Amino acid sequence: MSSDNLVLVLNSGSSSLKFAALDPESGHESLSGIGDALDGPKPSLEWKYRGRRHARQLEPGAGHSAVFSFLVALLQEELPELENRLIAIGHRVVHGGEHFSHSVLIDRKVIDAIKECASLAPLHNPPGLLGIRAALEAFPQLPQVAVFDTAFHQTLPEHAYLYALPYSLYREHRLRRYGMHGSSHRFVSERAAELLGTPLEETNIISAHLGNGASMSAIKGGASIDTSMGLTPLEGLVMGTRGGDVDPGLLMHLGESLGYSLERINQLLNRESGLLGISELSNDCRELERAAAEGHRGAQLALELFCYRLAKYVAAYTVPLRRVSAVVFTGGIGENSSWIRERVLQRLGALGYRADTELNARMRFGAEGAITLADSPIALVIPTNEEWVIARDAAEIVAGRAP
Ligand code: ADP
Repeated sequence: MSSDNLVLVLNSGSSSLKFAALDPESGHESLSGIGDALDGPKPSLEWKYRGRRHARQLEPGAGHSAVFSFLVALLQEELPELENRLIAIGHRVVHGGEHFSHSVLIDRKVIDAIKECASLAPLHNPPGLLGIRAALEAFPQLPQVAVFDTAFHQTLPEHAYLYALPYSLYREHRLRRYGMHGSSHRFVSERAAELLGTPLEETNIISAHLGNGASMSAIKGGASIDTSMGLTPLEGLVMGTRGGDVDPGLLMHLGESLGYSLERINQLLNRESGLLGISELSNDCRELERAAAEGHRGAQLALELFCYRLAKYVAAYTVPLRRVSAVVFTGGIGENSSWIRERVLQRLGALGYRADTELNARMRFGAEGAITLADSPIALVIPTNEEWVIARDAAEIVAGRAP
């Protein structure tokens, strides 16, 4: 199905701004682009329209506003036929705290609530707010919708979202596990139900979103009941530059015995750990696979840690789900790395998983389907599409339907 309508989707990260204009019914993208490395000395801008790629260098320090000004000028001056078809703007917002369990139309109250959540996500919410303010100014006639990464995980039960810390920290400061990548987990779990031919309400999915950031979710009947990221995106799996779970005592040791400042610890945990930290080579899975094949010990070790942690989480999520309909791999690594998928399934051999080597090798570059043998529990590869989730929610809200 397709329509004439388009939704402009904006995804502001701490150093990037991604945009796309897409049909909320078919998911077809008319325009897409990214302003990248916006906090570095060489910010860049790339966009694609009608299959043609364009690129330009930006001035150092140009920031999010330069990308946004470019996008507005592109739409208003060069592509008015697209601008005329816009029915809404959908914004990805990382942290909605406990305020939002689904997407909402943005008004003053919503903006205030997003601001309030910024203390929980100081790196992530401020650029999101920047995008919202700029879009409100440039397109005052268009409804704007916020879609939260945390919203999908608001169905977690207390025993899954609470830290076993003094309860007053939750009561007074709302310190708890929130989870991220909600739009992706939601998208692939819905698609998995379609591929399995089972009503969503009857499926139990374990989804693994493996990009630069990585998280897992246990999804029962379409509702998230556990997830690996916590108050911040640092908890859980091994990621590109984040190490996931660590003993909090280690952080105190770094401060007290090695003299690390909080800022230094923050840098270490967010930017210097994970695949990069262990391999001492790269955070890029492709590069690590190449190096590992050539015998690079650090790369081999980093990939092994990544797969081991992932398999442990899959096994853990069989506890709340009991019966698992499918394990789903998604994100740049999940969608493309047959090596990682095979290793994880090998480690899950105790639960009966067996990869179909041929099918597994075929699943890359946007292919979707099963990668396990007929007598194995099912594992699927499903390319994620967070932009489409955002566009669909925005269109539903504009049409007056709850998402
Ligand atoms: P982001 O979280 O930034 O959106 P992506 O979902 O694009 O990240 O995932 C990036 C990761 O996917 C990188 O580690 C990259 O190496 C990995 N990746 C992409 N293509 C392949 C491939 N063919 N084989 C292995 N890993 C891949």
